[in-house]
Amino acid sequence: MSAKDGAAYTDAVEFETRAIHDGQEPDPATGAVITPIYQTATFVQDDVGVNKGYDYSRSGNPTRTALETCLASLESAEYGLAYSSGLGATTTIMHLVNPGDRVVSVNDVYGGVYRMFTQVYEPKGYRFTYLSAEEIAAGLEPHLDESTRIVWLETPTNPLLNVIDIRKAADSAHAAGALVVVDNTFATPYFQRPLELGADVVLHSTTKYLSGHSDVIGGSVATNDPTVAERLKFLQKALGAVPGPFDCWLVLRGLKTLALRMERHSENARAVADFLAGHPAVDHVLYPGLRDHPGHEIAARQMRDFGGMISFLTASEEEAIALVTRTKVWTLAESLGGVESLIEVPARMTHASTSEASFATPGNLVRLSVGIEAAADLVADLEQALAPVAAASKRA
Ligand SMILES: *Cc1c(COP(=O)(O)O)cnc(C)c1O
Repeated sequence: MSAKDGAAYTDAVEFETRAIHDGQEPDPATGAVITPIYQTATFVQDDVGVNKGYDYSRSGNPTRTALETCLASLESAEYGLAYSSGLGATTTIMHLVNPGDRVVSVNDVYGGVYRMFTQVYEPKGYRFTYLSAEEIAAGLEPHLDESTRIVWLETPTNPLLNVIDIRKAADSAHAAGALVVVDNTFATPYFQRPLELGADVVLHSTTKYLSGHSDVIGGSVATNDPTVAERLKFLQKALGAVPGPFDCWLVLRGLKTLALRMERHSENARAVADFLAGHPAVDHVLYPGLRDHPGHEIAARQMRDFGGMISFLTASEEEAIALVTRTKVWTLAESLGGVESLIEVPARMTHASTSEASFATPGNLVRLSVGIEAAADLVADLEQALAPVAAASKRA
């Protein structure tokens, strides 16, 4: 799981090069240039307890090792671990704390994480405090007590695209003795590296940008803390939320083009955000790349670029629901981060689990995962989908 095992030339090269080569030397057994899918449950032992480093694929598998090494490298981490899903990684991290402990979390956290916190861990006696991005910006200190073990951040958040100053939050959390976890799914390590900004643990749903083709479910964790890494590695085996070899291989293949894809996702998102910001039927556009976004300055400082996720508000919930069925290039679906553009209404889809919360996602919010198609096609499709709304508001 260590990126530094057998320290190779890959330590000294750039992100794009490491994404293609780190952990992925040609196969020593056959010379295969691409890491093979080691589709095996068990490994021969030359003598009792004597093996080539692997004994059973829940504990470790060579395809998974390649992925873990590469993921660690891309997050500037010493240790990387792969899990069965983003939520599998979240469950495993939650086993670092105990009933009675407190987790302080940003409130517009991914809907599935919120569902896990409120419906699985709260009933078991774990305690949670949910804070808005503004409350976190005003200072975490008054919200942290001696029982606070984890500060759980997501930036930019899903689906409101709020931005949190990772360095500032980490300083406050560390003063109170809490571990800082950052869900870096939206930004990816190409645009933002939370460990370099003071976070202790960085988490991904590799289902999204890291694999990038909407064809696999996976999760990952990276850290520089050897104690945390050792415990998460133990928990990976002990709890069993491991990805299969083929799933690891799909994420590895996705990582090779991560940098290129992210450049294009971001470039297309800028074009789409500019178009929406100037459209009369759109009430408000939430994109950290826009100058009027409240998190623009922090994002410009801690991110290399603003990413491919945009949300916007329409006049009403009915408009939002009607609009998403009129697009032809944009596909109406949950998930994000794939090469294809997706459109959805979070309040009814990905974030239905927060509908009862005081910070429920507005019903008239539309979320876009901007793909890497031609920007002109993406804009033209939104234009035709918004046309009936524009006409209606002109009549009104
Ligand atoms: C999708 C997602 C998750 C959950 O990951 P799965 O792979 O679906 O389990 C967690 N956080 C964010 C920000 C996500 O978008």
